[in-house]
Amino acid sequence: MQTEHHKIVIVGGGTGGIVTAAILRRAGEGDIAIVEPSDKHYYQPIWTLVGAGEVRKEQSVRDEARYIPSGVTWIKDSVCELAPDRNYLVTRSGIQVRYDFLILAPGVQMDWDAIPGLKEAVATPYVSTNYDFNLAPKTWELIKNFKGGNAVFHMPGTPIKCPGAPQKIMYLAADYFRKNGILGRTKVTYGSALGGIYGIKEYAAVLNGVVERYGIDARYNHELVEIRPEKKEAIFRLKNDPENKQVTIPYDLLHVAPPQVAPDFIRQSPLADQQNPRMGWVKVDQHTMRHPNYQNVFALGDVAGTPNAKTGASACKQAPVVASNLMSAMRGKEPAARYNGYVACPIITGYGRMLLCEFDYAGKPSPTVPLVDTLKERYDMWLLKKYGLPWLYWNMALRGRQVPFLHAQETGLSPGRIWAKSWVS
Ligand code: FAD
Repeated sequence: MQTEHHKIVIVGGGTGGIVTAAILRRAGEGDIAIVEPSDKHYYQPIWTLVGAGEVRKEQSVRDEARYIPSGVTWIKDSVCELAPDRNYLVTRSGIQVRYDFLILAPGVQMDWDAIPGLKEAVATPYVSTNYDFNLAPKTWELIKNFKGGNAVFHMPGTPIKCPGAPQKIMYLAADYFRKNGILGRTKVTYGSALGGIYGIKEYAAVLNGVVERYGIDARYNHELVEIRPEKKEAIFRLKNDPENKQVTIPYDLLHVAPPQVAPDFIRQSPLADQQNPRMGWVKVDQHTMRHPNYQNVFALGDVAGTPNAKTGASACKQAPVVASNLMSAMRGKEPAARYNGYVACPIITGYGRMLLCEFDYAGKPSPTVPLVDTLKERYDMWLLKKYGLPWLYWNMALRGRQVPFLHAQETGLSPGRIWAKSWVS
């Protein structure tokens, strides 16, 4: 078996992996390897706008090679086994990669088999999902060609990346139907396994108003348990019903959010949280992002078992914490950097409207944009989502630069100072 050794090995060259590698390189760390099979890097948050016909899917993808920081070894392979007791991993092509420190950022795995009929349904002309690079354009085709009837939008009860995405595309679709005179002959249904529109009351108040504005029939505690594509029916289990009653909702258009779990090689490893083996998220201290039993292992991004929403913004906020705590551990010090649970969830509520939801572990709104009231829908936030955030992502976050707004709290600097500092360093 071919073997190699690196001081720091990062699994996954998506958002969390690249941002952390870039920060470590800027801090002068050497001998870093990233294991990443894909030669493409995707900016997934824009897939919502691909599904809404605002952006082409090609605008969300760039060559991975452009973002592997210089001086970092790229092992173009996928991990299939972790052996944390012996500090190595094995790749699909059979390379044994030994490490001193391991950072896990392989994202999630779609669980297409979790719902009977799901896989078959997305192959029909009536069902799509923005959770897939190739299917997001299909969502737009469905919305654009819709002539009225039942439009159903699904939200599962288990953790998914960007839990706001299922409702964003629903609002965009409803807005498109309204503008094109179709909303009057359309029944828009939100079938959600959760108990309400949003977990933070300040944002829920705004979003309930949006649901009302479009006349959406929001069905909560409805868990999608089966799709019958041949009859165009979605079967929901009523979660709070003592008799486990089910309801059948017919659809002419169905947007699904596939249930998601940790990748198999994580779930099968001792690093997965044994309390929740089905999901298999990596067990971490929610503040230091370090594994409680394996002191040389850190995780971030969607795969990390933190008790909050999985978003790219969270991964960007976790990256400097992981980098700092890993460098402390390398020097035999206790990890001092702390992730406060920051989540940013830009909820698009229509064409030209967005509500920027930002909060932390305490569940209280923590707005980072100064001088504007982000507790309401805004046009400038839509511009931020469509143009500003992708630019900040490709040019600042992935280059290991501090991002204005995002890093204002922990640095104590104004967004302008962060901006200036990022470009001179
Ligand atoms: P990813 O960026 O998914 O990267 C994981 C990487 O690991 C991939 O490159 C993959 O190829 C690699 N990998 C997988 N398996 C292996 C393996 N076995 N070995 C080695 N490498 C492997 N976030 C926001 O902040 N705001 C939004 O508005 C937003 N909207 C979204 C809308 C949609 C439709 C979707 C799908 C996502 C959205 N997100 C949003 C979520 C955001 O994209 C993710 O939270 C973010 O990409 C997580 O980063 P990550 O590094 O954990 O995973």
